[in-house]
Amino acid sequence: MNSYRLGEFHQFCGGGQEYLYLVPSGAIFALNDLTSAIIKRLDEDNRTQVELVSDLTARGFAGTDIEEAIEELHQSHAIATGKGFSTEVQKAPMPFPLQTLVLNVTNQCNLSCKYCYEFGEDRVATPEGKPKFMSEETARNAVDFLLANSPGRRSVHLTFFGGETLMNFKVVRSTIEYAREQAHAAGKYVDFSLTTNATLLTPPVIEYLAENHVGVTISIDGPKELNDTFRVFSNGKGSYEIIVPKVKELLAKHKSRPIGARVTLTSQVVDVKRIYRHLKDEIGFYEVGFAPVTTSPVRLYAIGNNGLNNVLEQFTELAYEYLDYALRDEHHGFSNVSDTLQELHAGISKAHPCGAGLGLLGVGPSGDIAPCHRFVDSDAHKLGHISNGIDRATQAEFLERGHIERKIECHTCWARPVCSGGCYHEAYVRYGDTGHANLHYCDWIRGWTHVCLQIYGEIAARNPKFLGHFDERKAI
Ligand code: SF4
Ligand code: SF4
Repeated sequence: MNSYRLGEFHQFCGGGQEYLYLVPSGAIFALNDLTSAIIKRLDEDNRTQVELVSDLTARGFAGTDIEEAIEELHQSHAIATGKGFSTEVQKAPMPFPLQTLVLNVTNQCNLSCKYCYEFGEDRVATPEGKPKFMSEETARNAVDFLLANSPGRRSVHLTFFGGETLMNFKVVRSTIEYAREQAHAAGKYVDFSLTTNATLLTPPVIEYLAENHVGVTISIDGPKELNDTFRVFSNGKGSYEIIVPKVKELLAKHKSRPIGARVTLTSQVVDVKRIYRHLKDEIGFYEVGFAPVTTSPVRLYAIGNNGLNNVLEQFTELAYEYLDYALRDEHHGFSNVSDTLQELHAGISKAHPCGAGLGLLGVGPSGDIAPCHRFVDSDAHKLGHISNGIDRATQAEFLERGHIERKIECHTCWARPVCSGGCYHEAYVRYGDTGHANLHYCDWIRGWTHVCLQIYGEIAARNPKFLGHFDERKAI
């Protein structure tokens, strides 16, 4: 008879309940006394079913219960017979229907943020000789492209990006109107969002965004001295004093969608808790999300390992604050937790780190198609042009290169269902290859995923109805 051995999982505890995070399926399995005893027994040595039944009946469990528990663990791949783990993840059907199109309506910006991936030292864009602003015609063609390439989807998403998006607000407006008409004619629903540095928000712009239910994300790095470390005008003057009154007006007048802040962390700006308190409690954002700057490790603003450990400690403290809120059924605005809980709740197991090049594409002012907004205007990453569609061979090559099967280092990592090697853009900037795993972040990713698993487990054990919020949220 075959021996059973442990399958591939990461064990964690939340709210006094033991769980297994199953890899590669991404499912979460709650252990009881019996299944926990089987796992502990197999952790010591491989055992046949007869041996397990014999060991555990001696500990007072009933034979039929043990057999059922073994079957349940086997079915879920928590335990296995035979050798080796599977890294197999279902391949996406191709051509994959588009869900989100990011229109970089301009590659121009009125700020000169020193860490910017679009203009800074690590930029991948090659905008020379290309239009600086997207024309109304290109934007309309992009809308047609989105609607034509999203078969089977009732709902699609159009997001506006830059440069500074509001430098081409005229095209944002006309595109929203056109997209709404065309989506209606095609029997689809289109939803809109934009990211802005807030410098060009005016009362009419705010009124338009509110009336048209446009989701808004503001790039801001916290209190004045932190924000103004990098987020400056070309004369070096900080942007905080200019943007904060505008942001406050936006928050007061735009109530049709929650407004989020997006913070870029650098070696000089790692004070996560203070930034969160300022943006959430003092300014009044609905949610705040943080991302470490994407850069080569040689830049002075790159965050080193000590900085990352510091960030993880502060993320953990805020995550436990989020837990307290969740146990009281209250909203907490730390979106890094809610985004990860959403993925854990959905039980995702990613073949690719994100939707770039798959359900999500970027379009530059010239109409060139890119895997996402960060690769827009880069000749080396062009995936076609909206006038003649996606270059399927280049797209297939991009996706194959970024598939988890190619990332050998990730095959023994328990965090791969949520990470799958990490951001392609980060990988390109660090390693010169979109298909390289972001190995400089592994400890951070595993540490953060473990924290979120514990938070998820505790909510599941103590206030499971809160997890219903994640059924309603759209997968990103
Ligand atoms: S990049 Fe690192 S953390 Fe992510 S799946 Fe690969 S080995 Fe794991
Ligand atoms: S994770 Fe990276 S590659 Fe993916 S959409 Fe975001 S920036 Fe682009």
